[in-house]
Amino acid sequence: TQKFKSGLEKTSASLVGAMDSVFSRSKIDEDLYEELEDILIGADVGVNTTMEIVDRLRAEVKERKLKNPEELKPLLSEILVEILKDGGSGMNLNPDGLTVILIVGVNGVGKTTTIGKLAHHYREEGKKVLLAAGDTFRAGAIEQLEIWGDRVGVDVVRHQAGSDPAAVIFDGIQAARARGVDILLCDTAGRLQNKVNLMEELKKVHRVIGREVPDAPHETLLVLDATTGQNAMQQAKIFDEATNLSGIVLTKMDGTAKGGIALAIRRELKVPVKWIGLGEKTDDLQPFDAEQFVHALFV
Ligand code: GDP
Repeated sequence: TQKFKSGLEKTSASLVGAMDSVFSRSKIDEDLYEELEDILIGADVGVNTTMEIVDRLRAEVKERKLKNPEELKPLLSEILVEILKDGGSGMNLNPDGLTVILIVGVNGVGKTTTIGKLAHHYREEGKKVLLAAGDTFRAGAIEQLEIWGDRVGVDVVRHQAGSDPAAVIFDGIQAARARGVDILLCDTAGRLQNKVNLMEELKKVHRVIGREVPDAPHETLLVLDATTGQNAMQQAKIFDEATNLSGIVLTKMDGTAKGGIALAIRRELKVPVKWIGLGEKTDDLQPFDAEQFVHALFV
């Protein structure tokens, strides 16, 4: 909880004062709703999601016959938590056998770092973890993954730069089976200059995983950089078409005052945020918790 709070300080610093000004108004009227809308949109909650939140708030105020703006605070928290929780947010792990997790995302969003952090997280839980270096395209990507592997004490299955990513992942699966691995984390390329090629590559990797391991990938996580705001939404749409995302990792939440993007993503993409990145260190990745998140933002 403390980690959540300090990691989300920038967003909370910009929200707390603004929200207090709403809740300390003299009455609940149109001006109040407008001010609230402006705050939410300013925090990157997105126009549609903001409208939905405010509409729900209005309906509840009417139904409960609320008069005092102070009473809106717990109500708003409730609505935000409901939106973020919709559909759950836990990881789908295979309880008796290999879990394959496919990680996708554009270069620079924090994909490699996230894989390192996830590897660390599952190792701490006592699981056996293996990495597969499926970004064979970007110079240095394989080495960078190996550095993370060393750092957290996890092996990396790799081929040469330029080789077929699907073949690397295939080998990763065979190695995982042979070594009794619990969790295989698969890195992928993130070049968006050639979108069509990349999406074909990801589909192929996805197919190979599905063919080799029943019900896999158990998770396909898209890594998004929270500081890129509505750009992140665009990326999500592109990747979702190719790979059928099961969850989002929202990185660099420590570096933005606009953490409201988590709500926009949840609502507009219908994909749950499962993890948030709150810094560059190994343990700066937290499972997403709706209550803690909302609490950290403006309580
Ligand atoms: P990739 O190209 O997607 O693999 O991105 P990297 O994993 O190399 O990360 C790019 C930069 O973002 C690095 O400097 C990371 O340390 C940094 N980074 C990744 N995640 C976070 C995070 O949650 N918070 C902060 N502040 N920096 C992060």
